[in-house]
Amino acid sequence: MTKILIVEDEPGIAFGLENDLQTEGYATSVIGDGAEAVRRARAEVFDLILLDIMLPNKDGFEVCRELRRGGLKTPIIVLTAKTQEAEKVMGLDVGADDYVTKPFSPRELRARIRALLRRAAPDTEDLYRFGKCELDLGRFELRRNGQPLDTTTTELKLLAAFLRHRGRVLTRESLLDEVWGSGISITDRVIDNHIVSLRKKIEDEPTAPRFLVSVRGLGYRFDG
Ligand code: CA
Repeated sequence: MTKILIVEDEPGIAFGLENDLQTEGYATSVIGDGAEAVRRARAEVFDLILLDIMLPNKDGFEVCRELRRGGLKTPIIVLTAKTQEAEKVMGLDVGADDYVTKPFSPRELRARIRALLRRAAPDTEDLYRFGKCELDLGRFELRRNGQPLDTTTTELKLLAAFLRHRGRVLTRESLLDEVWGSGISITDRVIDNHIVSLRKKIEDEPTAPRFLVSVRGLGYRFDG
């Protein structure tokens, strides 16, 4: 389900947006505070952010600037006041993808959202999501809370192998084949070490993994 974060402090507008977008089949979350919006956008993966400008604690420009500075690529549509021509330009300057002026027509906003989601949508096979992470094979990077992580090529290949076969047990032999290629001689220990280091990056508790679980006597399985 496509998830949209609505950052709007006027309850009436927020409610209208939420109602309208849910009717369209989107999942929505509403935040009415700028600082909280930054935290939320970093802690959870959203497909798009609707961002009001005048917000308590941190205005929409600052929210946008901070998220972009932190490397977040989520499409952002800024909701600007009609009279404020400068706001539109500034919104784009700080890294928003588009803007809609208030009062906006719900139909126009929906069209902008669809267009932006289409533009932002990578090939589905190139992007895997789980928990707070995304494995982006197009860019060949692993992100957590939207931030790229330091990873080795082997870790990324290993993770991709797991994500292609979610819920299935992969033996060390099959991982060896898929990641290193057959005919390469690697000890089980080497595979296990890569798993340990991958867990440190993707798991909240690496010693009690939720995603990359060990299957005793067989190998590993990716749950989620
Ligand atoms: Ca406002």
